[in-house]
Amino acid sequence: MKTMARPKKYETESERKQAVIERNKQRYYGCREKGLCVSCGWRPAENGKVRCSMCHNLNKTRMEKKGVISNQARHDDNHCSMCCKETELKNGRRVCSECYDKLLVSITKARAAYISKHEKRDEGNG
Ligand SMILES: [Zn+2]
Ligand SMILES: [Zn+2]
Repeated sequence: MKTMARPKKYETESERKQAVIERNKQRYYGCREKGLCVSCGWRPAENGKVRCSMCHNLNKTRMEKKGVISNQARHDDNHCSMCCKETELKNGRRVCSECYDKLLVSITKARAAYISKHEKRDEGNG
């Protein structure tokens, strides 16, 4: 008779996290060795890659949504990294003056919202 694998109890949160990382690592290398996609684990990985084309595209879209690769992909010395318009970038900026203004406004708004939220919380005490 086979014994069922029971979920192990971990002493600390970090121990549990470490176990998860270990398991992911094993899965990653296991899939890679078999030539399977490390993301979904069952579709064959693309040539020279660790993911299948489907997961690769999914990952890419996710990254683009996060804005992770947008700067890298778009940025050069004479294109705004936000609107991609050709412009002269000054003072080490990556965006044109128009987008810079927009950025400033959104940052100011976010900051104001943050401050008012915290102020309200303070008032609520008592
Ligand atoms: Zn996949
Ligand atoms: Zn711009």
